[in-house]
Amino acid sequence: MDRAEAPVAIDGETRLAVVLGHPIAHSLSPAMHNAAFRAAGVNAVYCAFDVPPARLGAAVAGLRALGFLGANVTAPHKEAVADLVDGLESEARDAAAVNTLYWRESALWGANTDGAGFLLALRGRAGLDPAGKTAVVLGAGGAARGVGLALARGGASGLVFLNRTPDRATRLAEAVGRLAPGCRVEAGGLSPEAAGRDRGAELVINATPAGPGGGPDEARFWKVVESLMGPGTLVADLVYRPVETPFLALARRRGARALPGYWMLLYQGALAFERWLGRPAPVGAMIAALVASLEGGAHPP
Ligand code: NAP
Repeated sequence: MDRAEAPVAIDGETRLAVVLGHPIAHSLSPAMHNAAFRAAGVNAVYCAFDVPPARLGAAVAGLRALGFLGANVTAPHKEAVADLVDGLESEARDAAAVNTLYWRESALWGANTDGAGFLLALRGRAGLDPAGKTAVVLGAGGAARGVGLALARGGASGLVFLNRTPDRATRLAEAVGRLAPGCRVEAGGLSPEAAGRDRGAELVINATPAGPGGGPDEARFWKVVESLMGPGTLVADLVYRPVETPFLALARRRGARALPGYWMLLYQGALAFERWLGRPAPVGAMIAALVASLEGGAHPP
């Protein structure tokens, strides 16, 4: 039996790692991180806890008291948990969101590994270096902000945020522009004008949960999305379930290359593992566990 598949032997020294979210039952992180601990021979288990917002403070205080190994934090807690840590990495401060808690000596630190995880996926799995390139990011929420900042840090020369609620895209573009003065940052709505202006972008990223639902917003979204994609475009979806999202299927139909969202999930998790344990993550075991948990297997990017 592969070491990553062996049963966990819990004893008096087993450490606890967790993910906190609400809801959380859908999370793939337990499968991914338990496989990582087993493959790396780490005596730890990883559990998911459904924590409503009103109990987040008590949950983090409880984890501190128990001397946990480390944690991931997901929606809706990524912003609020930043007030509950002793120190914040600069990426987490800029992103105004935390997805990883870890100990630095006896202080509890917050990191945001989403953006760096996306860059690792982009460079390592799609062979695309964002330096000098312009990216169109669909969405203006937490994921759009994290990915946009990471692209700017990676040397992107331009970012265009397009969002259903244009004001939110404008506010995000202003914030990212202040944090990344070397990058030209623009904003727009999901309008035909936006679609025409950004036609043929090298990199298009979906940072929304939008799916083909049929409402007027959805119809406009898909019209804009389709017009952005061409044979020279790399299309990345942050959504990872199903593996072949409608966004990626459309990209392939338009002759574009497609980068599925599970690669970002993998690398943000690998970077969290490194924060907790101070050593490289066993990414082979982690991606195998992720793919096994996802329906229908994986498609190569
Ligand atoms: P968020 O903060 O709630 O933002 C959601 C964004 O999507 C907003 O810009 C929203 O537009 C837009 N949106 C929602 N429904 C839409 C629709 N029907 N049509 C068009 N736009 C729509 O969420 P988030 O944290 O940024 O996450 C966004 C997605 O990324 C989620 O699906 C999440 O699962 C995924 N994600 C994946 C990873 C990974 O590791 N692969 C990591 C983080 C997030 P409005 O402003 O108009 O409401």
